[in-house]
Amino acid sequence: MAFRPRYTGLIERYQERLPFGDDARIISIGEGNTPLIQLQNIPRVIGKEVEIYAKFEGLNPTGSFKDRGMTTAVTQAVSEGSEAIICASTGNTSASAAAYAVRAGIKAFVIIPDGKIAQGKLAQTLMYGAKVIQIKGNFDDGMRLVKEVVDHAPVTIVNSINPYRIEGQKTAAFEIIDELGTVPDYHCLPVGNAGNITAYWKGYQEYSTDQGALKAVVNKRPIMCGYQAAGATPFTLGYMVDEPETVATAIRIGHPQSWDSAWAAKEQSGGWFDCFEDVKILEAQKMLSAYEGVFCEPASATSLAGALKDIASGKIPEGSKIVCTLTGNGLKDPDTAIAQSAIKPSTVDAELGAVKKAILDSL
Ligand SMILES: *Cc1c(COP(=O)(O)O)cnc(C)c1O
Repeated sequence: MAFRPRYTGLIERYQERLPFGDDARIISIGEGNTPLIQLQNIPRVIGKEVEIYAKFEGLNPTGSFKDRGMTTAVTQAVSEGSEAIICASTGNTSASAAAYAVRAGIKAFVIIPDGKIAQGKLAQTLMYGAKVIQIKGNFDDGMRLVKEVVDHAPVTIVNSINPYRIEGQKTAAFEIIDELGTVPDYHCLPVGNAGNITAYWKGYQEYSTDQGALKAVVNKRPIMCGYQAAGATPFTLGYMVDEPETVATAIRIGHPQSWDSAWAAKEQSGGWFDCFEDVKILEAQKMLSAYEGVFCEPASATSLAGALKDIASGKIPEGSKIVCTLTGNGLKDPDTAIAQSAIKPSTVDAELGAVKKAILDSL
C-alpha cells in the first residue's frame, strides 16, 4: 500500500474553528497536542493545596508555542501566493518561521538582535536555512524595521501582528479545555509582545461559550495572569520601555505589539499583570526541572514564578485549578542552564574504583 501522509497538526484537529477550507494546502509539521502535565511535587514542596498544570509548549516541532501560530500564518501566506515571509524575533519566532517556510517551499527572512538570541534558537534557524539578518539593535528595533520593509519588498509578516498567528495560537486554550474537561480557574503565562495572552483569551472565550460538548462549563473563563521580567515590564508600568533587559531573552521586549488586546484580556477576565526579578524566574525554571522533570526555557518559567508568588500571598487561593503555559523548551538556551547549575559535572578516572567512589560519596 502506498504511504499516505497523515497530518496530525492543529489545523486539521480544529479546522471548523479556523478560517481554512477543505481545499487549503495545509503547512504542518505536526504541531499542537502538547501535554498538560500536572505538577506533582511542587504543590507539596510549597505546602499548598492547589492543582497546577503545565501546558508544555516546548514539545512543539521547533520547541516553542510559536509553531501553533506559524502553521496558520504560513498556510494563509501560501494560499495568498506569497513566496517569502519575514519576522523580527527574539529567537523562537525565527526558528519557527524558518521551519514552516522550508516545509512550504518558500523563503524566510528573520531579523534578530545582535548577540541576544539563545544558542539553540540560532542553531535551528541556521539549520532550517533562513536568511538571518542580525541588527545592531533590540527586538523592538527589528519589529519597526519589519513593518517598514514590507512596503519595499514582497514579503509577508509572520509576527503576531499577523491575525492568523493568533488564530493558530488560540487552539492551546481548546486543548486545555478538552483535556481538563473544564476551564481552569487561573491561566498564568509570560508576556512579551502579548500575542499569546491575546490568543488564549480569544480561545477561552470561543470555546467556553460553545453550545456543544461543554455545556457544563458554559460561560466560565479563567482569570488571566500575565507576568513579565522586572527589567522588561511595560504592562506593570503602564507605558513602553526603551531599554528592556532580562535573562529571559524571549520576553526582552519593551514595546509590545498586542498592547490593547492584552489589557482587554486582563480586564475582561478580572486578571492582573505582575513582574519580578530574573532570579525568581531562574528559580522557577530550576524547580520545574529539579522537582518535576520538566525543562523549559527561562522566559517560560515566568508563568510558574508568577503563580507561586500569587499562591504564596493567597491572591490565588488554595483549591484553585491553575494552568501555567511553558512557552519554550529548555534546550533552547543551554548557556543559561549551565551557568546557573550549582552542580557541575566532575571528571574521574575511567576505572571502577573512581566511579564507585563518585557514587558512594553522593548517596
Ligand atoms: C514568544 C515567546 C514568549 C512571549 O510571547 P508573546 O506572545 O510575545 O507575549 C514567551 N516565551 C517564549 C519562550 C517565547 O518564545
